[in-house]
Amino acid sequence: MTDPARDVVPAPPPTRIAVRGGGHFPVRRIYCVGRNFADHAREMGAQAPASKADRGTPVFFAKPADAIVTSGDVPYPSATQDLHHEVELVVALGADAPQGVLAVEDAQALVFGYTVGLDLTRRDLQAVAKAKGLPWDVSKGFDASAPAGELVPAAEVGALAARTLSLEVNGERRQSSTLDALIWDVPEILHELSKLFALRAGDLVFMGTPAGVAALQAGDRCIARLDDVVELHCRITSPSL
Ligand code: MN
Repeated sequence: MTDPARDVVPAPPPTRIAVRGGGHFPVRRIYCVGRNFADHAREMGAQAPASKADRGTPVFFAKPADAIVTSGDVPYPSATQDLHHEVELVVALGADAPQGVLAVEDAQALVFGYTVGLDLTRRDLQAVAKAKGLPWDVSKGFDASAPAGELVPAAEVGALAARTLSLEVNGERRQSSTLDALIWDVPEILHELSKLFALRAGDLVFMGTPAGVAALQAGDRCIARLDDVVELHCRITSPSL
């Protein structure tokens, strides 16, 4: 007789991100926002909204929780010739949202902290998916597609709007924007997400990238920054290493 309560395969360990000041943040889900900076929407050939009233609804997609990389070593993925960097603000939720739609004015209270991350993208496969109206999963949700830095408690980060998000590759500045350029800010995104999903402690939200996305090669070294608040260092390794 076998134990009916037993796991039939080993349970995977949860993905964890180190928190500045001690402890770890176990990751439940990763939500991502597309086209949240007008300059990036335009560089991808999409229309940017002319005003807040013209925003429509945000573009959302997801990555699996175990796509997070905290070691700094990111293997160049299979099945692409065009791996792109997208530097992003990452929001970490420290509390469950109440039942129903989360009010914009109540959203900030759910935020545990922030870091910087990369929404790595198989741009060639995404272009095919867009052209054919197919899902983005294979272009966005692949293994090791979400390098992320140390989580910084929200109180240490303070007001986001004047902060600058940037990415350097091999010492050259590739992407840079202040966060007041976000089309949908953090409370607005959490409000919109809550219409679609039950937000929970442990959820991460990648907030979208500014202009300047470009290809990465094996051997490249990236430094993503949110001002002097937090830095993420990573290196693209050859898949054979
Ligand atoms: Mn992105």
